[in-house]
Amino acid sequence: MTKEKQEKTRQKTEKAERRKKRKSKYNVLQNTIYMFKFAAERKKSVIILMFIGFLLSLSSNLINLFLAPTILGVVERGESFSTLLSTITGFAFAIIVIQWLSSYVRINSDLGKVYLRVSMIELINLKHMRTSYPNSEDTAFLEKRNRCKWELFDSNGVPEAIWANFSNILLNVSGFIIYLFIISNVDIVLGVLCVVIPVAVFFINRKIYRWSYEHRDEESQYTSQLYWIHESSKNMILAKDIRIFGMTDWLKNLYKKTLNLYNEFIKKGVKHEMLGNVVELVSEFLRNGIVYVYLIVYTVNNGLSASEFLLYLNAVSGFSEWIYNFMNCFLGLQRQSYKVSIIRELLETPEPFLFEEGRSIEPEKNGKYDIDLRNVTFRYPNSDKNVIENLNLHIKAGENLAIVGLNGAGKTTLVKLICGFYDPTEGEVLLNGEDIRKLNRRDYYKFFSAVFQDFSMLEATVAENISQMSPREIDMKRVQKCAEESGIDKKINQFPKGYDTPVGKKVYEDGILLSGGETQKLFLARALYKEAPIIVLDEPTAALDPLAENEVYEKYSEMTDGKTSVYISHRLASTRFCDRIIYLENGRICEEGTHDELIKKGGKYSDLFDVQSYYYKEEIEF
Ligand code: ADP
Repeated sequence: MTKEKQEKTRQKTEKAERRKKRKSKYNVLQNTIYMFKFAAERKKSVIILMFIGFLLSLSSNLINLFLAPTILGVVERGESFSTLLSTITGFAFAIIVIQWLSSYVRINSDLGKVYLRVSMIELINLKHMRTSYPNSEDTAFLEKRNRCKWELFDSNGVPEAIWANFSNILLNVSGFIIYLFIISNVDIVLGVLCVVIPVAVFFINRKIYRWSYEHRDEESQYTSQLYWIHESSKNMILAKDIRIFGMTDWLKNLYKKTLNLYNEFIKKGVKHEMLGNVVELVSEFLRNGIVYVYLIVYTVNNGLSASEFLLYLNAVSGFSEWIYNFMNCFLGLQRQSYKVSIIRELLETPEPFLFEEGRSIEPEKNGKYDIDLRNVTFRYPNSDKNVIENLNLHIKAGENLAIVGLNGAGKTTLVKLICGFYDPTEGEVLLNGEDIRKLNRRDYYKFFSAVFQDFSMLEATVAENISQMSPREIDMKRVQKCAEESGIDKKINQFPKGYDTPVGKKVYEDGILLSGGETQKLFLARALYKEAPIIVLDEPTAALDPLAENEVYEKYSEMTDGKTSVYISHRLASTRFCDRIIYLENGRICEEGTHDELIKKGGKYSDLFDVQSYYYKEEIEF
């Protein structure tokens, strides 16, 4: 096989693969029904107004069609001046009423369409917030979510634009039937000519315009890149790196390079578009020529009146528009349907966890909850390595457990298994003896309170961040107590608005920014506010200075008094307050006991402790 042939085969396979990837799960009809059902359940008026809008457009079109021939007919028949006047007034009145009604319908249906789009955004946000945790990390799920974003945040996106298309399709189909009826009254050959010519022109044009459709992936690659650079230049987290590492020039050059490529791409698109325009003009000229000549010959041979000729001429020239517009609308609907499919696929992503369908968990009278991990093995999706290996761990109610180990030992993964964010690949996690896979996972989460490593600050007031509630529901006394316990109260009291001070600068101009340590303390206060029976702390002191760290340790037993706690730390000195320590290595428990027991044992924990205390001392002496 020659190189050229090989390249062609490769391109064909790639194209087939791209097509397969783009193939929608639902067809146009299924998606049309879905959108109508969606609107019927939330905003019926959008459907009703769409039908009224369609009837008004059709009426307006028919008035325009009959206006001139009717007036000409009155003159031809030599009717009185008052008849002529009342005919003109009648048409004028009808046109004014239809225009007024159309603008009323447009404004009201626009409001309804925005409501539908916002409802869809809400559904997708809810899905994202409530989906099983593994979905929220799944690349395919996140990719779908990204593709939905453009449709939802743009008023030209599918949830709004599709209604105009439905209405246009109805209009074009009805116009087609009415005009076909009028033209066929004259001559069936004329009817056939009117159908065949625009259909042929449509397919020729479609082939030419297809270029930009087929290359849309390439276009979105350039626009995404440009968008990413634009976002990075204003990203608050990147702001420091941009300055320190002199990334400005690099970003500027990348932007320029991408822009040049994009320009080249647009130039190619414009060439195709211009060719399409030329073909369109020539074909329109030919189409009109053939059909008009036929109509004139027919009129001369059959002695039609001037008003009849005008009516048929209008009908003939309008007819091909119906067909052409219908086909374009249908193509548009196919594209929109593909996007509706993506939204639906995202919303219908299967849930590996049970929620409301699972057994609901009734709170225990004694408030005690045992967690038992039995023969638990866990491997991340698309990975061939077990992160947790046949692990058995019984956490008794009220116990303070510490998990220690080197980076990558599997500590965070283990905590996520305990919290029910992942299900084990093998083995089971039991809550008071029952497999959590059978329980309502949302009920299970209610028993946990946590401080994770990654920050998740809300753009809201300090009090809202601590309570995670809307202002009216907040128990301010409890907020203050938790802030005192976590040690952030002094800082909050320095703010002019105290607990009502907004945090973050994305939404509030007067919002404050907290340091890493202060943020961590605020999260501790949040964890305490929830008053859950099990508290999980994943490296809560990582961002604290030694004094603040010491302060947290001292309060630790107070904070977790009567609660079960799971505490991850890589700093071994911090775990001495715990009832039991497990030392994790390669996803297995390799040592277990109290701090003193493990030191006495002289194993890995003890070795690591010695190394850490040596450097700690060095640090202090230095
Ligand atoms: P530790 O908390 O002890 O530092 P982790 O539980 O975070 O360890 O990570 C254990 C191993 O699992 C690491 O090798 C890490 O690369 C891998 N890992 C962590 N999170 C993911 C993930 N979401 N997908 C795939 N691998 C992961």
